[in-house]
Amino acid sequence: MKIKGQIIQRGEDAYEAARQAAVWNGRKPQRFPALIVKAADEADVVEAVRYAKAHGLKIGVRAGGHSWAGWSVRDDAMLLDLSNLCDMALDVTSGIVRVGPATKGGLALDPYLAEHGLMFCGGHCPTVGLGGFLLQGGMGWNCRGWGWAAESIVGIDVVTPDGELVHANEHHYSDLFWAARGSGPGFFGVVTKFHLQTRPRPQAFTQSTYVFPMDCCDAILRWFHPAQREIDTRVELVLLSIVPPLPPELNPTNAPMMVLHALAFVDTHEDGVAVLSPLEQCPVIDQAVVRVFAQPTSLAEERAEQIRANPEGLRYAVDNAWVTGETDEIVNALHDAFVNLPSPQTFTLWFSMAPLRTLPDMALSLQTDIYLAIYTVWENEADDARCRAWLARQMQRIEPVSVGQYLGDSDFAARPSKFVSDANWQRLQTVREKYDPSRLFSGYLGKSGHE
Ligand SMILES: Cc1cc2nc3c(=O)[nH]c(=O)nc-3n(C[C@H](O)[C@H](O)[C@H](O)COP(=O)(O)OP(=O)(O)OC[C@H]3O[C@@H](n4cnc5c(N)ncnc54)[C@H](O)[C@@H]3O)c2cc1C
Repeated sequence: MKIKGQIIQRGEDAYEAARQAAVWNGRKPQRFPALIVKAADEADVVEAVRYAKAHGLKIGVRAGGHSWAGWSVRDDAMLLDLSNLCDMALDVTSGIVRVGPATKGGLALDPYLAEHGLMFCGGHCPTVGLGGFLLQGGMGWNCRGWGWAAESIVGIDVVTPDGELVHANEHHYSDLFWAARGSGPGFFGVVTKFHLQTRPRPQAFTQSTYVFPMDCCDAILRWFHPAQREIDTRVELVLLSIVPPLPPELNPTNAPMMVLHALAFVDTHEDGVAVLSPLEQCPVIDQAVVRVFAQPTSLAEERAEQIRANPEGLRYAVDNAWVTGETDEIVNALHDAFVNLPSPQTFTLWFSMAPLRTLPDMALSLQTDIYLAIYTVWENEADDARCRAWLARQMQRIEPVSVGQYLGDSDFAARPSKFVSDANWQRLQTVREKYDPSRLFSGYLGKSGHE
């Protein structure tokens, strides 16, 4: 294989460090690719795909490396590392930005667009790569109001399993374009560039934060379930149980607490005050130990909090569910996941998707108005079994009020679940069969709930 980038074979000195570096999670997979190819550019990707096809190697793709399960790292396959593909180019007339798949949505793309008064709804954690994020759907800033990040993809440049570089959009290779918006790690091609529609940047990011003792949990959940539907859709709403960074006098035992964080994407401070006001109606508001109402903030500040809450180097097991049902059954099913966290770094979050939007025709097709994710986080390998068993128990409890999950926080090897509608699953198989009948691309790790 003749490429400008780097090829590292299994057995070479550099192999193990490169294999581990492919995965952000401190819990590294025990899977060993045959070789690691670090592409320098698009032409290298074409060459690598053709080489893999000619030599009977399967391909696992790595962009930003943030998939929890380390999907790119597959036994005996080619690990195709795209970390060098992180260029950005904005067309100021159309507001369409072209980005390489390893571009970090928060650290790189957002500051670049901010210079032009624009924004793209990238992932909350600023180091997440746009490649995996967009292919899964992309639960970016204000997803409940602005929709999935994948809805703002207007085209992709993709290397097909035949080693052809094509441009796919609504009109050309439209089936490939359809599949790319929601199939995630099951996608059968390598996207070398995403063409994204940006939006005008809000002028006044405004936030409210309330911190409550844990014994308010059920009252807050009960109120929030219907209340979330009535809040202006310019407000991102997150309800968390977490150990918040508070002075000792406010949380002497470092206990987990309930945090309600609302971020308004508006143009004036007055608008921020208006859209955040309904949250002051929370029935236990007087018990809040922290009550910050409608303060100016910035995405840089919000990103810093994401980095604080998701420290690198720790061991993560993450799972999630699309939750639906009557308020009482939801509160009963979620109570323990909020209240009894197994480690000081673990957090459970309810990311509001209410009122539920209608989706365009794309592979991503499963959602409810409650996105529930559990980030189980710990330090030592000795705690692996205990923490993972706790997570599995919580997901069992949530199962009766769940209709499936979002790929972004999933690991089918730990728990299979549905992630698209049954009809879209069938359609995805048909498109895959057309482009990748010999299964050059590795596909899902473990079985999805559709199989
Ligand atoms: C700390 C943290 C915070 C997160 N926050 C959010 C969030 O706010 N919202 C959200 O939606 N998700 C979030 N995620 C989940 C994240 O979006 C997914 O894990 C996503 O897969 C990461 O993309 P990546 O490119 O960094 O990962 P990778 O591990 O590099 O990619 C994941 C998989 O996607 C496929 N893939 C990636 N790029 C390409 C490509 N160019 N062509 C073909 N296939 C490709 C491959 O199958 C690859 O194995 C978070 C993850 C972490 C670790």
